[in-house]
Amino acid sequence: MPEQRPSKPTPKRRPSKSTPKRRPSKSTPKRRPSRPERKQRPSRPARKQRPSKPDLRGLSLDELKSFVLKLDEPAYRAGQIADWVFKRGVRSFDEMTNLSKGLRERLSEKAVLSCAKVVETHTSEADGTRKLLLEYAGRTRIEAVLLKDDERITGCVSTQVGCKFACSFCATGAMGFKRNLTAGEIVEQMISLRETAAPDRLGNLVFMGMGEPFDNYDNVMRAVRIANAEWGLGVGARRMTISTAGHVPGIRKLAEEGLQIHLAVSLNAPVQGLRATLMPIADRYSLTQLLGAIEHYSERTGRRATLEYVLLRDFNDSPEMADALAEIAGRLLCKVNIICYNETTDAVFAPPTDQTVESFLSQVRRRCPTVVRRVSRGSDIAAGCGQLCVPRDGT
Ligand code: SF4
Repeated sequence: MPEQRPSKPTPKRRPSKSTPKRRPSKSTPKRRPSRPERKQRPSRPARKQRPSKPDLRGLSLDELKSFVLKLDEPAYRAGQIADWVFKRGVRSFDEMTNLSKGLRERLSEKAVLSCAKVVETHTSEADGTRKLLLEYAGRTRIEAVLLKDDERITGCVSTQVGCKFACSFCATGAMGFKRNLTAGEIVEQMISLRETAAPDRLGNLVFMGMGEPFDNYDNVMRAVRIANAEWGLGVGARRMTISTAGHVPGIRKLAEEGLQIHLAVSLNAPVQGLRATLMPIADRYSLTQLLGAIEHYSERTGRRATLEYVLLRDFNDSPEMADALAEIAGRLLCKVNIICYNETTDAVFAPPTDQTVESFLSQVRRRCPTVVRRVSRGSDIAAGCGQLCVPRDGT
């Protein structure tokens, strides 16, 4: 099928990364200093790097054990500390009241505990979705969302401050990239969401907030394992979903983790040209490479990935696109979630009409019965898919 080229928006051209190499001018040959000129610089003594203190919120139980053993404490202290840090979610060492005062003092000397302040909370009048603006040390701010769907409470977690992948429909992408969140900060975010959900139980976690999770792979996987562990937050792996914009190495690595976690891929266009217009990551990892990685993931794990498809009016909502999407989903045995575009402040797109959504869905369903329309929640408080962002002065 010929690829559809959109008339809007104008694709943002990225400056080419390949700087032409300058040839050395023949008229100015490089001058090699003659031997007497060559002076050996006295070598500077290497600066000793102060080892940074471990963040207890980002340590596994085994790492906590090694840590307490180094403090000449018995190994069982690690279990007590894990209980305070993950189960009770305390924000200071002083609150760990079953530890001696001396140990609490040594912990505060030798370790840190990631903490976040809830700066703002917004609640959707339409569906009860709650959005938190969290501030970590150094005034780093991110947003996280709590979604209530019947009896299910889901926390939508951010993994980076901003994002470097600049998808053109996403407010986080427009923010640019500030930094990765540490594993401890991601776990702390889950604890803040759990406290906000109380007395309801935070039963599900989706890594669909700000940032591309696989661009912060190690910290995200560490946080996933802590969230999943019995001694940690105790969230079942099958109740967690990582959503990627199409980070091929990340998908391939996840396939080897031996975790039951779900994978969602933000596809948004079933042809390379259109996808690259929407999502610059497609220039780095082509659609062919992406589909190959999804296939590999399914073969290795026996799990079906979900394709997320944000429907944009007059852009990716034609019957031809529906057919191409259905062909991919059918071939790879993927589920498909259709999401209506949520407008952002810099919107260049528009949401499709209800009629278009319905005909797109029925067109896909002909070849792929596992397609559903995912109701976007929290769009009235800018907490919907693609709407999270922190204003410039918020970091
Ligand atoms: S959709 Fe995801 S990967 Fe794309 S810019 Fe937004 S946060 Fe980044």
